[in-house]
Amino acid sequence: TVGALTLDQAESMAAATSTSGLFMKKEGRIGDSPLSGSGFYADSNIGAAAATGLGEDIMKGCLSYEIVRKMAGGMSPQQACDAALYPFCHDLKQRYGQVGEISLIALNRKGEWGVATNVEFPFCVANEKQKAQILMANPGK
Ligand code: ASP
Repeated sequence: TVGALTLDQAESMAAATSTSGLFMKKEGRIGDSPLSGSGFYADSNIGAAAATGLGEDIMKGCLSYEIVRKMAGGMSPQQACDAALYPFCHDLKQRYGQVGEISLIALNRKGEWGVATNVEFPFCVANEKQKAQILMANPGK
């Protein structure tokens, strides 16, 4: 999945995803990417988030909505990504014995961003101060 989050000069925000789904997926499978709240979510008054990885797990946590909700509660995008991902992965592991790959990105209406992943995850940031730049995220906790 490729996910994109934007903030324009009028402080309008958007989230978009594009995916081929999972390799060898069953016909008719719908992953997280087209589902608002799971694969993406945006609220111009708060921020936006998007997810990539194992849709079956991402959907269990409605992770994009969860991140935006946490930002609404006062967390920075980085805090919200960390708080949405790591306890959730821990819970899934406890409950099902395994957890899929999950990577999350977030942006708030101030232009601050965050990212969290349980694998290696390349992402890109571009704003008026810095040109598009590929960065690498690694698992945190
Ligand atoms: N999240 C996508 C899905 O489960 C797959 C991906 O991110 O590569 O359909």
